[in-house]
Amino acid sequence: MRERLRVCALYPELMSIYADRGNLLLLERRCAWRGIGFELTAVGHGDALDPDAHDLFYMGGGQDRDQELVAEDLHTDKRDALHAAGARGAAILAVCGGYQLLGHHYELGDRRVPGIGLVDLVTVRAPGGTAARLVGNVAIEVELPGIDGVRTLAGFENHGGRTQLGTGATPLGRVLGRGHGNDGRSGWEGVRKGLIIGTYLHGPLLPKNVWFADWLVQQALGRDEPMSSLDDRLEDAAHQSARRAAGVSA
Ligand code: GLN
Repeated sequence: MRERLRVCALYPELMSIYADRGNLLLLERRCAWRGIGFELTAVGHGDALDPDAHDLFYMGGGQDRDQELVAEDLHTDKRDALHAAGARGAAILAVCGGYQLLGHHYELGDRRVPGIGLVDLVTVRAPGGTAARLVGNVAIEVELPGIDGVRTLAGFENHGGRTQLGTGATPLGRVLGRGHGNDGRSGWEGVRKGLIIGTYLHGPLLPKNVWFADWLVQQALGRDEPMSSLDDRLEDAAHQSARRAAGVSA
C-alpha cells in the first residue's frame, strides 16, 4: 500500500490566523513531491475526533474571541481523544492560540478559558491591550531527536498571552535575537513533549522552516530515515530571510 500522511486540522475555520493554513498546504505539497499520499480531515465543532485515524493533529492560531469559541468543544468533546493520540505517539502541532489551548487554561482578565491539559503550562493575557502584545519576527534554536546539533526555527509572533511552563514541561527552544517567546522574559519559546509541539511561531511556520516540516512528517510517519531531499532553493531563501528579519544571520 502507498504510504500516506493522515493530517487532522482542528477547527480550520476559526483557528488559522496569520496564514497558518499555509502549514497544511506545505505538508500537502511536500508529500506530493515525494509521492507520499496526503489525507486531510477537518474536524470542527461537534465533530467526532478519532485518536487513531490521523498521524498528525494540527491547530493554528486564533484571536481570543475565536479561542473562546472553540475551547469548550475542545475541552469537553476532544480532550480525551487528543490525550489518547498523544499517548500513542501521534504528532500534535499547535501554533499560538492553538498552543495556548494545549495547556491547562488561558486567563483573559476575569475569564478563564479551559485548555486540554496535554502539556503542563498556563497562559495569562497581559493587561494593557495592543501595547502589551508581544509582536515581531523571532528566531529560536532547537534540539530535536534524530537531528544532530542545534537548528534554527524562524517566524513571526503576535500574542497578548504570556505562557508559563510548569515544572513538568520542556520548552521547544531558546529565543535568539530579537524575539519574545513564551513570556518575553524567560528566553524560552514553545513547548515540546515528544511529538507534542506548541509554538508561538507563525510565518507560517512550516514554509519558512522546511527542515522542520520534513522532520515532523518523518516522525509522524514513524520513519527511521530522514526524508529524501528536494530542490529547496526557494524554501532555504525564505528561511534565511525570516532569520535575518529576526536579527539572526546564517
Ligand atoms: N489570542 C491569543 C493571544 O493574543 C493568540 C494569538 C494568536 O494566535 N496569534 O495571545
